[in-house]
Amino acid sequence: MEVRHLLEYWEGLKMDLACRSLYLFLDFDGTLSPIVRDPGQAVLSLRMRRRLKKLLRTGWCKIAVISGRTLEDIRGRVGIAGITYGGNHGLEVEGPEVKFRYPVPEKAGCALEDVRRTLDKALSAIPGAFLEDKGMTLTAHLRNVKRGGLLIAAHAVSEATGPHRMRGEIVVCPGREAFEIRPSVEWNKGKTVLWLLEKGTVAGRERPWPLCVGDDRTDEDAFRAIRERGLTVFVGPPRQTQARYYLKNVGEVEAFFGKLGRIRKR
Ligand SMILES: [Mg+2]
Repeated sequence: MEVRHLLEYWEGLKMDLACRSLYLFLDFDGTLSPIVRDPGQAVLSLRMRRRLKKLLRTGWCKIAVISGRTLEDIRGRVGIAGITYGGNHGLEVEGPEVKFRYPVPEKAGCALEDVRRTLDKALSAIPGAFLEDKGMTLTAHLRNVKRGGLLIAAHAVSEATGPHRMRGEIVVCPGREAFEIRPSVEWNKGKTVLWLLEKGTVAGRERPWPLCVGDDRTDEDAFRAIRERGLTVFVGPPRQTQARYYLKNVGEVEAFFGKLGRIRKR
């Protein structure tokens, strides 16, 4: 089915949304904050912060921000109390009603440690490339690598991870001008969303409606998980996606949250 521009369909959606409690599952980079050359410089704008706080205050909106960053990083960068934070795509989660850390198998942990040592060295020889150690995962950042260095960097990632991938200990996922190196486990953003949704349901009360917003490949798992039972929104130019709706950019996400905050009087 074709992906629809959410703001064009807003009037119809508004009615559906107005009579339910919502659970917002939000990505950070490229969704709440524009993509920047140096991931360390990504910030939440004042307006976006205000909108999120307002949604929390309504009392009918719960929010979880789940990112590929570490839990500590994402919590510090958003820094709003009352939000549930998920780091490493949901491998570590902490919020008002949850605290969770996925039990990574020892073999995968050792494999990541081995890759970290080899790849850190290999990438440091390529201008613009660097390896980020995110505890439970690794990211090879290639955003600032010149064209000629890209193949060399990709080769280095492939070499360093090869034996461990063959043994099924780790997986390598291409991201936004980066490679994510993760333990090979049956856990992803989609499972995290379903798990949080379950946890966030008060016994005897109606389950909140999930609303998922994201821009990356990892968000597709979340879109797939709730496609039939909630609202799924891809951020970026329309493309092949599991989401039913799209918003063009971070500015439109902010506008959407503004509208959402106004559909019900407190
Ligand atoms: Mg993203």
